[in-house]
Amino acid sequence: MKEIVILSGKGGVGKSSLTAAFAQLLTEQGKYRLTLADTDVDAPNLHIVLGAEFDRSRAVAASDKAMIDYDKCSSCMACLEACAFESIIGTEEPVIISYSCEGCGVCALVCPEEAITINPVENGVVNFVTSGTVRVVAGALGIGESSSGRLVDIVKREARQEASLNGSDLLLTDGPPGIGCPVIAALKGSDYAVLVTEPTPSALSDLQRIVEVVRGFGIAAGVILNRNDMDEKSAQTTRDWLAQNELPLLGEIPYDPHLPKALARGDLGVNMYPDAPSSLAIKKLHKVIEGLLA
Ligand code: SF4
Ligand code: SF4
Repeated sequence: MKEIVILSGKGGVGKSSLTAAFAQLLTEQGKYRLTLADTDVDAPNLHIVLGAEFDRSRAVAASDKAMIDYDKCSSCMACLEACAFESIIGTEEPVIISYSCEGCGVCALVCPEEAITINPVENGVVNFVTSGTVRVVAGALGIGESSSGRLVDIVKREARQEASLNGSDLLLTDGPPGIGCPVIAALKGSDYAVLVTEPTPSALSDLQRIVEVVRGFGIAAGVILNRNDMDEKSAQTTRDWLAQNELPLLGEIPYDPHLPKALARGDLGVNMYPDAPSSLAIKKLHKVIEGLLA
């Protein structure tokens, strides 16, 4: 089984709708078996783009938090002084602000009474979704919660298990935006990274940063230039940068109002408007993705 991750460095460049379109095209007429992992745990929406419903959910502990046993606490306040995250407040006795606690354990180390323990807390869910023949594993972090990298790790693990159970040819991961811990967790173990960008200076800067991360992991990558006709000068700057940095341009997709129209109706552009310019470009691109499965 191959593992491909779709990343963008920034949100809003069409990563999830592309992932969904590739999934649809690759599984047409039972060609390939596919499992999708939605690792954008702060804003999971792949199932919405696919128009699918959750069929199972499981709460997960992706974070650790400090807890005080007040029967043991002598109110020395050493923990308050030691917490670098200012997650302990109080004057008479210490109070932990759970949402900002990083679970680092320093307070437990300095506590002379061994009154503090670090415990796993449920702060997210893993949802299981079926859309046609495609199985989707999607993580969702609780509001205000941290440690999304750990949740992404859990989602990837569950998705690999689902993929092996259903004999998938491909595990396709819809990655989170940015270049932080969740992106690294989504990347780990992938055979190939598809990087989606658009022709703007800020998107190019984000692309350059994500390329550094991907190359740091020694993972092969190629780029899709979405909405390529937004600005020809910026598009050419992106193409030139890719050529200078020996990064393959997998394909380009024109801006096409059919695509948001289809999304507004809860459908995919390749379904609703199969002959629209963007759909034709996406169909061509899915052949490139198919080539990566060989
Ligand atoms: S575990 Fe770390 S962040 Fe949380 S309260 Fe203790 S010292 Fe502060
Ligand atoms: S360090 Fe331990 S004993 Fe001291 S205030 Fe904190 S919890 Fe209480």
